Amino acid sequence: MIELHCHTTYSDGTLTPTQLVKAAAQAGVKALAITDHDTMSGWDEAMSAASSYNMEIVPGLELSTVHRDRSLHILGFYPNRELLSPALAERLEGRKRRAAEMVAKLAALGYPIKLPEMGEGMAPGRPHIASALVQAGYAESSAEAFDRWLGDNGPAYVHYEKFSIEDGISLLRSCGAVPVWAHPYLFRGGDVEEVLAEMVEAGLMGVEVYHPNHTPAQQKRMLALCAEYGLLVTGGSDYHGPGNAKGGETTTLNQLRVPLELLYPIKSAAQTLQLTALSAS
Ligand code: AMP
Ligand code: ZN
Ligand code: FE
Ligand code: FE
Repeated sequence: MIELHCHTTYSDGTLTPTQLVKAAAQAGVKALAITDHDTMSGWDEAMSAASSYNMEIVPGLELSTVHRDRSLHILGFYPNRELLSPALAERLEGRKRRAAEMVAKLAALGYPIKLPEMGEGMAPGRPHIASALVQAGYAESSAEAFDRWLGDNGPAYVHYEKFSIEDGISLLRSCGAVPVWAHPYLFRGGDVEEVLAEMVEAGLMGVEVYHPNHTPAQQKRMLALCAEYGLLVTGGSDYHGPGNAKGGETTTLNQLRVPLELLYPIKSAAQTLQLTALSAS
């Protein structure tokens, strides 16, 4: 079984890469993608931990873009680290500025907080701010913090700095990474099928069909669209750590039981992209 969407403490997950690898091995995962938001910093630790478990690590990331004024996440599998690093360093700085803006908005609303120190290469996100609000005693839970201040269009919400789906997809491809639309049915900016057509036009190569927030009917529809467009199919639990969930439901590692076979075409697509990326660079 494979898990192609997981977060660690390098973004907003609560397990370190080592802890995540151990938990995934115990859950029967044979190949695990590390897909932190806008950072590749968790890969090395995950890879050294995985060697004790006969587990394969799929290097990846979840890139934040803005489409139709809403956030849209694109997974990238197997990027060339050297090629992608400079652009990601910029994205990380953008996330840091955004976190500081949200903290300033909260202070203006009467809820001053201090963000935890973020180490080199770590990507701050709204869940970190939610935890700080809980720690300061302003909210009982992260869910309450999202409801009151941090949800999209909440009073302390700040958008990612503008980065289009076209920019995101071409950046990933030019760095040898296979671009995959993450959790399409969580997108709130418009009709999924229209947006899919736009993304395919921009060079999208796959879709995360299997995700805990997708219904069986949505999975089925998306599978048909993937066949129609010739897109790769992926799946993952979008795991953020034990007892850690958006919208209240807890996800567990390997809950979707995605078969290992789905990884092979992704890998070979990445190899082709990398040859092109390296010869162009
Ligand atoms: P960011 O990338 O900083 O905008 O943060 C997005 C992350 O916040 C998502 O990956 C979820 O883990 C989390 N999140 C988004 N909406 C909610 C919500 N309503 N309640 C709890 N967590 C949420
Ligand atoms: Zn996240
Ligand atoms: Fe996401
Ligand atoms: Fe995610």
